[in-house]
Order: sequence, then C-alpha cells, then structure tokens
Amino acid sequence: MRPAMKEMVWGGRLLRDRFGKEIPSDSTGEAWEIAAHPHGQSVVDGGPLDGTSLQALVDQYREALVGTKVLESYGTYFPLLIKFIDANQNLSVQVHPNDQQAAQLEGPGASGKTEMWYVLDAKPGAKLVYGFNQDLTAEELRNALEQGALESFLNWVNVYPGDTFYIPAGTLHAIGSGILIAEIQQNSDLTYRVYDYNRLGLDGKPRQLHVEKAVAVVDRKAPIGREKADIDQGVISPFFETLRLKVDGTWNLAVSPERFEILICVGGSGTIATGGQTMPIKEGDSFLIPATAGTVQVEGQLTLLQTHVN
Ligand code: ZN
Repeated sequence: MRPAMKEMVWGGRLLRDRFGKEIPSDSTGEAWEIAAHPHGQSVVDGGPLDGTSLQALVDQYREALVGTKVLESYGTYFPLLIKFIDANQNLSVQVHPNDQQAAQLEGPGASGKTEMWYVLDAKPGAKLVYGFNQDLTAEELRNALEQGALESFLNWVNVYPGDTFYIPAGTLHAIGSGILIAEIQQNSDLTYRVYDYNRLGLDGKPRQLHVEKAVAVVDRKAPIGREKADIDQGVISPFFETLRLKVDGTWNLAVSPERFEILICVGGSGTIATGGQTMPIKEGDSFLIPATAGTVQVEGQLTLLQTHVN
C-alpha cells in the first residue's frame, strides 16, 4: 500500500530520508500505511488497482479481502490502522478512550484506541512517557493539571531500537523526540491531549487540550516495571496480535481465509510472492495480504512485523 502522509508540528524528514517516501514538507510526522479512515486512506501501490483506496477495496472485495471472520465481526469497517511515526520533537502527552468510553463521550459508533509501538530507531538518550511515575488519585491528577505540574508525575522510559510498547486504551503516553516507530492500533483517530509543552500548532495557535475527557479515561495506576513488551513472544491484545519475524532465506506464510494479514518490513530487504507475482520488499514497506491469498512466500534477509485481527 501507498500511505497517506500527515504533516505534524513535531514531525521531520526521516520518512523520506530513511524509507524514501514522498513527504509533503520537512515537518512530516506520520505515514498512514494501512488505513481506511475518514482522516486518511492508504491506496494500492501499483498493479491494475493502483490508486484504489483501502475503503473502496474493502467495500468491493469484502470477505475475499478481510476474511470471513473479520467481515462477520466488523462488517466493512476496517479494524486496524498501521502507521510509521517520525517524532522529530516530543509528541503531546495524551490518552485514548476504550470502545465503551468512546461511545459514551463521543457518541455511538465512535471507536476507542488501543495501540502498540515497535521502535525502529532511537537516538541516544531518547525517551518516551509511559503512564505516571506513581499512583495518583483523581484529585491529585486534577491538581497537577491545574497547577501545570504534570511533568513531575510522568514516567519517562529510555528507548532503544527493537523495543516494543503495548499501550492499552487509558494509558497515558507520549513519544519523545528522536524516535522512529511503527504503530499498530485500532482504526480510530480519537486522542485526548493532556499536555503539549505549551507549543503552538502549525496554524500558530495553541493546540487544543481535552483535560476533562482525559481525566475521565486515564489509568491513574503507575505501570513501573511493566512498560516494555516482548515482541518475540508476540503482543496479544483484544484487537490485534503482532509478532516479529526474522527471515533469513525463505519463509512461507499460510493465510487463513478467516482474516487478512499485514506485513510491515522493519529492517532489511527481499522479495514477496503470491499468486504468481513477485514484488520487492524493503524496510518501510507495508503489505496488506488478502485473506484469500493462499500462501505468501518471503525471501531475503529481513525483519518483519506480522499482525492480524485477534
Ligand atoms: Zn497514542
């Protein structure tokens, strides 16, 4: 797929410099690699369907694309959203609601957001925020926000390439500067921003904060010692399962007709073949494999994230 690119106040040039993607400006923050969302659609890259949006594909091919079980559970709503994120500067401190809270706070049909991050690169000293550094009562949290003292309660974690973070809805989080990640999440764009370092947006105005909603959904228990996940064991959430695979030679993926597969190349290069077609695959590429693809053969020296709906 070819991504939808997003300019962000905190973005940079890495999506071009590292992956060779076309970027709209020097503050490009996100590539929405596999996306069927009103705020951004990825499209087919090459072949007879070149330029077709993911939502149009899902609407036309239904279970042949997403799989019988996924269609049964989600209809033509594509359940996942895959991004690369170039955090040239700190992202805002934020939290996402779960499905139930999203429906309550935003109206029926709104989807929550549980996500995970796989770190492709991190500059020396790079850090991110994962939850609070101590348990807080609702009153302590409110006071900290009112007094602009939230920074002293943030749990900053050192980040290294290959680290994985699982971020269930309700977890306070912020990607720090100098970090390049692949993000796998529920298909939702619902973010409650708690603190933005008093920055101005690309339009020159302070970015909106959503303090009340954030306080309503945030987990106030400190997650000390359980920040990082083990990607080789797999990250299993109610919404997706993700595993890291190191291919050295040939690897065959047998695709179940029940669900589509996504392969994100996070290192190396090679080829990917299915249905008599062979395509190159390299770091920064994302493939959506239809549920009816049968067997997919990957060859080369590369590191992949394999993800599918749980
Ligand atoms: Zn987030």
